[in-house]
Amino acid sequence: MSNISRETFDQVMVPNYSPMQMIPEKGEGSKLWDTEGKEYIDMAGGIAVNALGHCHPAMVSALNEQAQKLWHMSNVFTNKPALELAQKLIDSTFAEKVFFANSGGEANEAAFKLARKYAKDNFGEEKNEIIAFYQGFHGRTLFTVSVGGQEKYTKGFEPLPGGIKHVEYNNLEALKEVISDKTCAVVMEPLQGEGGIIVPDNEFVQGVRDLCDKHNALLVFDEVQTGMGRTGKLYAYMHTSVTPDILSSAKALGGGFPIGAMLTTDKVAKSFVVGTHGSTYGGNPLGCAVASKVFDVINTPEVLDGVVERHEKFKARLNQINDKYNCFSEIRGRGLLIGAALNESFQGRARDFMNATLAEGALILMAGPNVLRMAPSLLITDDEMEQGLAALERGVAQVVA
Ligand SMILES: *Cc1c(COP(=O)(O)O)cnc(C)c1O
Repeated sequence: MSNISRETFDQVMVPNYSPMQMIPEKGEGSKLWDTEGKEYIDMAGGIAVNALGHCHPAMVSALNEQAQKLWHMSNVFTNKPALELAQKLIDSTFAEKVFFANSGGEANEAAFKLARKYAKDNFGEEKNEIIAFYQGFHGRTLFTVSVGGQEKYTKGFEPLPGGIKHVEYNNLEALKEVISDKTCAVVMEPLQGEGGIIVPDNEFVQGVRDLCDKHNALLVFDEVQTGMGRTGKLYAYMHTSVTPDILSSAKALGGGFPIGAMLTTDKVAKSFVVGTHGSTYGGNPLGCAVASKVFDVINTPEVLDGVVERHEKFKARLNQINDKYNCFSEIRGRGLLIGAALNESFQGRARDFMNATLAEGALILMAGPNVLRMAPSLLITDDEMEQGLAALERGVAQVVA
């Protein structure tokens, strides 16, 4: 088919997405080219997925090598790449056991089911409530979207699964009022991504942990967006004084190959006895071989420290743009998960900034209608960064004019 265009999308695809007009065709590092040959700098990173940029040689060779050996077995068998990746995750985190899935939503689905099962096994039928936070995002399956705290994503899909409550993020008093011995788990992102790049206070995170301990509730960290070096540590919980009981990881875990993982302790893992949960593709050798290589590249002081350095450069350049055009009220986030909140004059216009920046040659994201979000490759070079932020500046100039 040679006559493929954006219009083809409307003819053949379910209309749940509204993709950009340009169609990306090839990528290398943080550079991207569309079907017309136009060059862009990618500061969206496939929504915090392409942690090593596009087509990193280490990923390409891991995929090619595994592709010659073994693609798929199902979980009737285990395989070497899955066991190696699980071992690496365990060696570098609080976790003692791993479950593999294919996406963030699936990793969370496993996490929430495990929390329910663990509570039932250890404390009885009554302990089944999940508490999560408004503006949180945990995926699009019916369970995960219900735990997520954004009504716009559940509207029209009722009846929803029960036993889920929501409270305000970064407000310990609100959680205190709702948590009880019926709570089986508190679910949170250690930094809210989709909800607007919200970094909670350390005291809040510690307070959530303490309340969970008091009520024998599990603390589930959704690190699908914040994990794998995105914030400058391997996982964002490592910036805080707490460890979760369950952690979900996906997005950057595969660097662009679909894979998800749920990490937990021996004690909690025991409730997923044979037959309680599963996946046909989860732990697939291709995905695990790629993720294992991505893990090796990211989990080094050079890369993780480099993320922290890049954060400062991004922030300085964004502040410079703001000094000139006065459009942001705050530059926030951690590492290379950066939010630029629009000030009073530009409320609701994040999409305009994103579109103008794209036309000027750089990809950025939104986190709601009032926040520009950037989640570039952890390896983005100074030159790529400057080219991308210069495009953003030209985009800002147009919207502000
Ligand atoms: C993207 C995201 C998810 C969903 O991951 P999918 O791979 O799209 O299912 C879940 N939680 C958080 C925090 C995310 O950012």
